[in-house]
Amino acid sequence: MYRSHTCGELRSEHIGNEVKLAGWIQRSRVMSGQIFADLRDRYGITQLSFVEKKDAELFVRAKKLGREFVVQINGQVIERQSKNPNMPTGDIEVEVQSLTLLNASKTPPFTIENDTDGGEELRMTYRYLDLRRNPLQDAMKLRHKVAMAVRNYLAERDFLEIETPYLIKSTPEGARDFVVPSRMQPGHFYALPQSPQTFKQLLMVSGYDKYFQIVRCFRDEDLRADRQPEFTQIDCEMAFVEQEDILNTFEGLTRHLLNTVVDANISEAFPRISYADAMNKYGIDKPDIRFGMTLTEITTLVQNKGFQVFDQAEYVGGICVEGGAAMSRKEIDKLTDFVKRPQIGVKGLVWMKCDADNKSSVDKFFSAEQRMEWKTAMNAQDGDLILLIADTGDRARKALGELRLHLGNERGLRNPKEFAPLWVIDFPLLEKDEESNRWYAMHHPFTSPKPEDIPLLDSDPGKVRANAYDLVLNGNEIGGGSIRIFDRTLQSKMFDLLGFSKEEAESQFGFLMQAFEYGAPPHGGIALGFDRLVAILGGQENIRNFIAFPKNNAGRDLMIEAPAVLGDEQLRELQLTISS
Ligand code: ASP
Repeated sequence: MYRSHTCGELRSEHIGNEVKLAGWIQRSRVMSGQIFADLRDRYGITQLSFVEKKDAELFVRAKKLGREFVVQINGQVIERQSKNPNMPTGDIEVEVQSLTLLNASKTPPFTIENDTDGGEELRMTYRYLDLRRNPLQDAMKLRHKVAMAVRNYLAERDFLEIETPYLIKSTPEGARDFVVPSRMQPGHFYALPQSPQTFKQLLMVSGYDKYFQIVRCFRDEDLRADRQPEFTQIDCEMAFVEQEDILNTFEGLTRHLLNTVVDANISEAFPRISYADAMNKYGIDKPDIRFGMTLTEITTLVQNKGFQVFDQAEYVGGICVEGGAAMSRKEIDKLTDFVKRPQIGVKGLVWMKCDADNKSSVDKFFSAEQRMEWKTAMNAQDGDLILLIADTGDRARKALGELRLHLGNERGLRNPKEFAPLWVIDFPLLEKDEESNRWYAMHHPFTSPKPEDIPLLDSDPGKVRANAYDLVLNGNEIGGGSIRIFDRTLQSKMFDLLGFSKEEAESQFGFLMQAFEYGAPPHGGIALGFDRLVAILGGQENIRNFIAFPKNNAGRDLMIEAPAVLGDEQLRELQLTISS
């Protein structure tokens, strides 16, 4: 038997007990006549002591213990001389009577401590060592806890977890597919699922009216800091439901997670906001509503006063920064630089400091009286700072939205311990890609239009609203879904609108349209981004910390060095040639 207890278990009531422990040497301190070593496992740390007087031979062996050596010990629990109230096991130590070295360790390339000295690349290369550290162990425990809570919650409500295949054909989430060549059918390829979308819809046709799966999805996208080529979704689908049923069910799940996992204590219904309102008030479709500073349009109020920048703009609007009048010119200049960055790309900021004078950067063009009107329109108080942007509506709102989040960060308004979920609803069904002049499904091609908007499909497709919804938490889209089309004719029409030829639609999604002819029930669903959700619950932004073996920003696994080239033999078998 390796151990009678874990390294996190022993307390003063165990004093006098003979115990066996096994784990890793975190560090050891050699003093004259005595050695203290911290023994660590996933449950905690227990201090070991070796006393030279009692066993000189053991003492010599203990001296040789290096960091991360794996040992097993037998010993007696004794009261600690200098207790450590910050450690759960801090009242005791184990005086070692016998020591077995199970395995030595090279000196690790970074310290296995809460605050390590290793950079992220190095830690990803030695991920198995990084995973020994407390913050990552806590992240894995949190991930497990959330997964179990999801499974229990949904299972109690009659959901079945059903697996769907990974080797499939192209799915419709709008990213590139990862593909897998087939050896048995040379020249043919599987695609890895971007989501189980079509399969979960087929399960509805099969009568499994409440499905979920905690499932891996694969999307070959250009990676941003918070994306992974493979990631996990809580994927769900229900039959005989309308949008309201889906929102209620998954609001319930989300509230349960927030209240049980992080004690968020949320009892009210989640706010709901339409896509159009979200864009107008927050400049973004995933608003962070933990703070105000919403956008106000004042185009008509400020035009025709002789200030060209405003007069020529499609939109003039701004935000009001509470207490912002105290900002220095330098600070305001920095904000101007922020919105002028190419990613945002507006020409500048107009500011006004609210007080008796309402001094602004455009006093030349606007009288004190007119500036007073701005203050009223923007609902500003003395001491506030008004920041205005003039541009096309889309660009100005987007810039104001980003400026708002930037100021929210700078002014500490985005408390990671506060949780503000909401639904964004009434998304447009389609968006146009101006370059190719083609319509794209904003969610995916199986999303149903609002019935009252169906006539617009022919006359004004851009105006059609979808039965689609996003779940947003603290400025992150943590879930999205829709009520689906379940009628073959409407589905064909959608493919048509999206520019699929009949043959293309048939060859890619014929199986689904065929299934719709065999008694498909009305259905809809949602998928929540599991990695992101866990990261937010853990109060962090980086989802990599919550994935045991993540890829880096270039989509590489630095530990196993993937992706890698294939050997000639394997290429031959697959009948593949690489053109360089
Ligand atoms: N398959 C969709 C997605 O991955 C979710 C859904 O519509 O249920 O975003």
